[in-house]
Amino acid sequence: MKDENCIFCKIANGEIPSATLYEDEEFRVILDLGPATRGHALILPKNHFSDLYDIDEETAAKAMVLAKKMITKLKDVLGCDGYNIVQNNGAAAGQTVFHFHMHLIPRYEGDGAGIASWKQGELSEKDKEEILKKLKD
Ligand code: 5GP
Ligand code: ZN
Repeated sequence: MKDENCIFCKIANGEIPSATLYEDEEFRVILDLGPATRGHALILPKNHFSDLYDIDEETAAKAMVLAKKMITKLKDVLGCDGYNIVQNNGAAAGQTVFHFHMHLIPRYEGDGAGIASWKQGELSEKDKEEILKKLKD
């Protein structure tokens, strides 16, 4: 399940070299070439899935367990103060490479990285009712 036109398939399977932090049969974890902060890493499955809609549940679950292991180790290596796990699905959500990946973004006090700092709106009664109703239909 590889896509020969996909750059992350090539990186994950070692056809293109990368700064690899971890590798096993199913995943490779690499440093991002355009890091949001020092130590920004990506978890890549070796098989091709375009996004979270596409990936099978077992691989998705393994990716999250791997994220836990990696950030638990990396927080001591990097000396960071927090972590954001970011996973974009679709261009509208900022996805630019259409091979499922999870961003592990270390955070440092005052780094100004601009992640998880969206302007909070207010939940309207209309949205609340509509969404809950449609989900149950
Ligand atoms: P997305 O925007 O799709 O969620 O994230 C894609 C990420 O992949 C970006 O953070 C970008 O810097 C990173 N990236 C794109 N091409 C390469 C590459 O060839 N090597 C590495 N290591 N990272 C890449
Ligand atoms: Zn791919």
